[in-house]
Amino acid sequence: MQSYQGFEQGPIRPPSEADSLLLRVTRNCPWNRCTFCSVYKKQKFSTRPVADVIADIDSIHRFITQMQEGHDSRIEPAENLSPSEWSAFVAARNWLAEGMHSIFLQDADSLVIRPENLTAILRHIKMRFPQVERITSYARSESVARISDGNLAEIAAAGLNRIHIGMETASDTILQMISKGASKGIHVSAGLKAKAAGIELSEYVLIGIGGREFSREHAIETADALNRINPDFIRFRTLHLMDSVNLFAGSEDYSYQWTQDTVQAEEILLLLEKLEGITSTVKSDHSYNLLQEIDGTFPNDKLRLLAILQHFTGMSPRDRTIFQVGKRSGHFIRLSDMENSGRWKQVEEMCRQSGITPENVDEKLHEMIQERMRRGMFF
Ligand code: SF4
Repeated sequence: MQSYQGFEQGPIRPPSEADSLLLRVTRNCPWNRCTFCSVYKKQKFSTRPVADVIADIDSIHRFITQMQEGHDSRIEPAENLSPSEWSAFVAARNWLAEGMHSIFLQDADSLVIRPENLTAILRHIKMRFPQVERITSYARSESVARISDGNLAEIAAAGLNRIHIGMETASDTILQMISKGASKGIHVSAGLKAKAAGIELSEYVLIGIGGREFSREHAIETADALNRINPDFIRFRTLHLMDSVNLFAGSEDYSYQWTQDTVQAEEILLLLEKLEGITSTVKSDHSYNLLQEIDGTFPNDKLRLLAILQHFTGMSPRDRTIFQVGKRSGHFIRLSDMENSGRWKQVEEMCRQSGITPENVDEKLHEMIQERMRRGMFF
């Protein structure tokens, strides 16, 4: 077995974990076959030894203790640090500044490791940092569905209190075409198991994943699965993909056709309409999303959320174009930002200079997003 390589952190975390300490339990993704996902492509999956994760936790604890004894979170390390120790020091300093409330276990699926190993890591975290209120992780439905109810209850009792699952869709047709490695049944089973164990559940839904052909099926099947699970959070992400990616690689009959903003808004509208009998909080908390103001809890906020979608789809083509361009250029975040006449004029001028009209806005934005992705830029 390889000896300890020092403190490690992986490449990504959910936006909601911005203030969390990131602890790497595994490297990369044990599945790594979803056609839309490039995060870990060409990276080999491995499980970090429990002793290494515990060594990381102890490093963070040592630096936190030093900083607290120095009564100054700006303190510089008292010793010469190696690059990995320096990473641990910076992580500890940032986490201390954020109040040390939450920890996120990386990378793509911490639930894939042996339950007793995960429990040992969680107990060590709780022993070192008893004040931590939330420990969370990404998990694949398939991994959660395979864990026994007893083991999942032990994991929850040891401290894991939220998991983020990439459902993407509950349409079996699409799941098979995108090689998700899960079915609607597995998604529902995993979600229900997590909830029964007392673990808070975030389900991620990928808007646009069905393309134009399967948009309605995506909305209807996904809403049905979410109604059965009643997760704590439903979080929307929007699919943006390079045209060169063969999204429906698992199908010989269909090729993916990217969806316009109006199709995506209709998709979200249908999905929200079909959500019934749940108490989930729905969020659109990513800057990629066109309508980030979708944020509310069922059932009370359902009509308000539907009204946001109806407002967008019911706009005149010209107003809708202004919002689409204004959102993507950073002039608007919410629909009500269009009431700012100064910003409206700036966006209108931008459209005029770039030749953007209601007839070509989707093509132009698609080209712009492709160009940004080619350059590795986020928007
Ligand atoms: S399971 Fe998640 S991280 Fe792994 S390939 Fe699929 S989307 Fe990417």
